[in-house]
Amino acid sequence: MTLVERDGGAARPEGAGSRDRTHRVSGAPDGLDERLREFAGRPAVTGGLGKDPVNLPMIRHWCEAMGDAHPAYRGPEAVAPPTMLQAWTMGGLSGHTDRSSAHEELFALLDGAGYTSVVATDCEQEYLRPLRPGDEITFDTVIESVSARKTTALGAGRFVTTRTDVRADGDLAGTHRFRILKYAPAVRPPKAAAPAARRPRPVINRDNAGFWDGVAAHRLLIQRCGDCAALRFPWLPGCADCGSREWDTVEASGAGTVFSYVVMHHPPFPAFTPPYAVGLIELAEGVRMISDVVGVPHDEVRIGMPVRLEFLRVDEELELPVFRAGGED
Ligand SMILES: [Zn+2]
Repeated sequence: MTLVERDGGAARPEGAGSRDRTHRVSGAPDGLDERLREFAGRPAVTGGLGKDPVNLPMIRHWCEAMGDAHPAYRGPEAVAPPTMLQAWTMGGLSGHTDRSSAHEELFALLDGAGYTSVVATDCEQEYLRPLRPGDEITFDTVIESVSARKTTALGAGRFVTTRTDVRADGDLAGTHRFRILKYAPAVRPPKAAAPAARRPRPVINRDNAGFWDGVAAHRLLIQRCGDCAALRFPWLPGCADCGSREWDTVEASGAGTVFSYVVMHHPPFPAFTPPYAVGLIELAEGVRMISDVVGVPHDEVRIGMPVRLEFLRVDEELELPVFRAGGED
């Protein structure tokens, strides 16, 4: 196998399609694994200070950006949305001044070993107590782990996990675990050899599986809150109006209008031939969804145009709800 670590210099990417999942273990001649392991537990930020105390304007901006109208985040008794946890620790455009040298040393070591690219992979948060306007935020971040060498679709790399303990007026309010992949980009086969592109597959999970079950049965299902009866789309675990997690569904009649649209020219995407129109369809029930407008040239799509639901068989696996222009047939 080609060892990216061996040179300690420029990346020497593995051959494309390599399935070699082995990695260097403790005691390897260059000692990289061992040196990386020594970063576990070292502080990345000590005594970090939130740039602003928890405050209503930032909460309001967040809620507007997220489309979250939950009443708990407004008014004199407001709390901050728990998922804002990281926002209170961010450096903003002016950046951080409180990073430790360990963080820089680790990145320099990984860069030097050829893992020059970086991608954020996931985060986990735990909430211990609500944050309220006026809370002063402090935080400490430790490098929790640096993984062994892993082979991924992006290339061989190392996962680096950091854990930030966020405190409000000195009390632990939550933890934020953040994972990145530092990797040596894989060499890809030339694009000309790529097979004909297929439309992207939907990501189906427990929160939206019911929608795709509906599509399979040629029913367009809208979620309805079990408490306040608000309709919502796309599918979500909870109601943005009242926070309830109870819901059932109503079937869309299939009537709608083009609420807005864009015509895509660039960038090109392999499964689609530009220019084409992407419609934001307002269903008769009031919710909106993004979909294809079919049966009309892209330059004749218009706001307010009536459309009607139909199901498009894209390939042997994929069927999609689309909207045909001239819906008042
Ligand atoms: Zn509701």
